[in-house]
Amino acid sequence: MNQNELKKSLSKLPLGLGDVRYFDSIGSTNSEALAWSAGGAKDLSLVIADEQTAGRGRLDRKWFTPRGTALAFSLILRPSAKEKPHLTRIVGLAALAVADSLRTRGLVAQIKWPNDVLLDGRKVAGILVESVWSGVEVDYVVIGVGLNVLKGAVPSAELLQFPATSLEESLGPGVERGKVLRDILAGILALRPHIGTDSFIAAWEKMLAFRDEQVQVEGGSETPMTGKLLGLESDGSLKLSSEDGKSVTVRFGDVRLRRQA
Ligand code: ATP
Repeated sequence: MNQNELKKSLSKLPLGLGDVRYFDSIGSTNSEALAWSAGGAKDLSLVIADEQTAGRGRLDRKWFTPRGTALAFSLILRPSAKEKPHLTRIVGLAALAVADSLRTRGLVAQIKWPNDVLLDGRKVAGILVESVWSGVEVDYVVIGVGLNVLKGAVPSAELLQFPATSLEESLGPGVERGKVLRDILAGILALRPHIGTDSFIAAWEKMLAFRDEQVQVEGGSETPMTGKLLGLESDGSLKLSSEDGKSVTVRFGDVRLRRQA
């Protein structure tokens, strides 16, 4: 993808974006977007790169984006007063938009709470949401998305803690990155006005992987928590029912979800 192709795809978006910065290669699109935010970026400004050399996952984990194979972009939001109470739902906004873009291509995408999208139980996309605050007020939220489009984007198994796949593995050759990007952005724009609604949570919940299954949540150094995955709380936290029937809430943080072995 080059800048011209990108512009062509984005010109077909139903609603306008802010400014777009395109890079053939960059360290991390999220880092660039955070720096741009600090310099006063407009709402819906977009950073996109063909390759990331230091792509980031949560904490210090790496996200791999080899040249010419994947989508890696960061969308900058300046949340409105109405959106500010719902910041914890933004990861769901992005995950839903990615999952919807895959479902419209006939694929059964699911969301592995909190920040991954799966195809056939394997990770096809990861989302990293980061915020910039002025005191207690949020100024900016950066939504980073990495999506494996072609087979060449999928890292080798020894680099992974969870199996990975690409769109090409499901759809065959010919997937156009620009079109997928446009669909995801259109999805975010369309869902955004509904972020505070109950139907938004219901739609997110419907897409969750492992629903009604026994799962394990590994968190930092603590003993893993196990339980049946029931759904989401209204802030997007995960709702489990433990073996003794008690309801347990898993909050966002350094937690990793797995089907119980
Ligand atoms: P997990 O996916 O193991 O539950 P996580 O959700 O905490 O962990 P993230 O921070 O979302 O992980 O993503 C970083 C991890 O994703 C890396 O540690 C690596 O295992 C994996 N990863 C990195 N690049 C890719 C990629 N292109 N496709 C799939 N998985 C990747």
